Amino acid sequence: MTSRLPAFYNLPLEQRLEALAQQAGLSAADRQAFELPGGLELSQADHMIENVVGIFGLPLGVALNFLVNGREVLVPMAIEEPSVVAGASYMAKLARAGGGFTAGSDPPMMIGQVQLLDLPDLPAAAERIQARVREILEAADQALPGMVELGGGAREVELRSFPETPAGPMLVVHLLCDTRDAMGANSVNTALEAIAPLLESISGGRAHLRILSNLADRRLAWAGCRLPAAALAYSDFSGEAVRDGIVEAWAFAAVDPYRAATHNKGIMNGIDSVLIATGNDWRAAEAGAHAYAASQGGYRPLSRWWSDEQGALCGELRLPLAAGIVGGATQAHPLARACLALLGVKSARELAEILAAVGLAQNLAALRALATEGIQRGHMILHARQFAISAGAAPDEIEGVVRQMVAEGEIRLERAAELVRQRKG
Ligand code: NAD
Repeated sequence: MTSRLPAFYNLPLEQRLEALAQQAGLSAADRQAFELPGGLELSQADHMIENVVGIFGLPLGVALNFLVNGREVLVPMAIEEPSVVAGASYMAKLARAGGGFTAGSDPPMMIGQVQLLDLPDLPAAAERIQARVREILEAADQALPGMVELGGGAREVELRSFPETPAGPMLVVHLLCDTRDAMGANSVNTALEAIAPLLESISGGRAHLRILSNLADRRLAWAGCRLPAAALAYSDFSGEAVRDGIVEAWAFAAVDPYRAATHNKGIMNGIDSVLIATGNDWRAAEAGAHAYAASQGGYRPLSRWWSDEQGALCGELRLPLAAGIVGGATQAHPLARACLALLGVKSARELAEILAAVGLAQNLAALRALATEGIQRGHMILHARQFAISAGAAPDEIEGVVRQMVAEGEIRLERAAELVRQRKG
C-alpha cells in the first residue's frame, strides 16, 4: 500500500475512486458510501438531528503522500475551500525527504467538570473529597460498565478552588476518564451526572453544572517533521531562503496574536476537514485547540518552526485532539465509516496522530506560500474554478473559462461572467 498515487488529480473522478479503493482495499459497502451523494441517505440523516429537510454536501478530497510513523496513509478531507487538499499533499510529499512525519499522543484522557456551589466550608469540602477519591472513581466506573470492560473508565479526581466568584465560593471537581477509542463526551457526561449526588453529600454543597471540558489538555497529540533545506527549493527561491522565510513567518505568529489566530486557522483547515470526513465533532476540537493556544498567558501559535544545526527545517505541532473512531457519528454516518476505513486507523490515538501530522503539513503549506510568492497566485488559480461555477458555466465550459482567466491573469468573478456570456451567446 502506498499513499503516492502519481497523477491522481488527472484521473477522471470514477477512476480516482477505483484507484483509491484498490490501494486501501475498501469493502464494497465502503466504496458504495463514496458513490452515494453526500455519503448519506436522507432517511439516515433524518435520525441524526432534528427537523431534517435535506443533506448539505461538501467536496471530499484525498490528500496523498502522507507517511506517518513509517505508515503510508491516504487522508480523506471534507472541505469547501480550494487549495487545502493540494497544499497538504504537496507538503507531505516534501516531508518524505526527511522520512515523513513522526507523531505521538497521550492516552485518551478526557476531563469532566462538576461545579459545586452553596458550600458551607470550601476548604473543608475539598479535603473531604480528596479523602474519598477512590469511592468517587468507583461510582463513576459503575456508570460506565462498557468503557470499563474495554479497559477505560475513571482514573483521577482533581480539585480547583475559586473562593470568590459572582456565584459565591465555588469548588470545581475534575473527573478524568480514559475513553479509549471514543471522543468520550457522552460517556464522561454520564459519569459526571452519576457522581454529582455523591459529591453533594460529601461536600455539603449543591452540584450545578456537570459537563465535559473541551480543553482536553490531558489528551494531546503531536507531530514533527524535518526537511532538508534542499527539499524546500522552489521557483527562484533557494531552499535556505524558503527555510529562513518560514522560520521568520513563525516568529511573527509567536509574538503577535493577530497573526497567531490566522496561523492556527491554517492548521485547523487540515485538521477540521479530516474530522468532518470521519464524522467527528470538529467544534470540540476547535474549542480545545484555541483554548490550549491561550492557556499559557497570551494566545500563541500551536506549532513551532526552527532551523537545526544541519540547516534542516524542523517543525512541531502539539494540541488537544479528542477524536474518536467509535461513538458519535463516526460509525453512524456511512461515509465517515468509509473514511475511517480508508485511513486504516486501529485506535483513536492513531487517528489523533494522523490529525496532528495533517495540521503540521497544512501549516507548512501556508507558511511556505506566504514566505515566498504569497498565497494569492496559487489560491486564485484554484479559486478560478469556483468563479466559473458561480458565473453559471456548464460542466463542460468550466475548464475553458478557467484556462482563459489564468492566461489573461484576470481571475475575477466579473470576468468569469463575461466569458460565460460569450460562450453562451
Ligand atoms: P458515544 O456516546 O456514542 O459513546 C461511545 C460508546 O461506544 C460507549 O458507550 C462505549 O461503550 C462504546 N464503545 C464501543 N467500543 C469502544 C471503544 N473501543 N472505545 C470506546 N468506546 C467504545 O460517543 P462519545 O464519544 O461518548 O460522545 C461523542 C458525541 O458527544 C459527539 O457526537 C459529540 O458531538 C457529542 N457531545 C459533545 C460535547 C462537547 O464536546 N462538549 C458535549 C455533549 C455531547
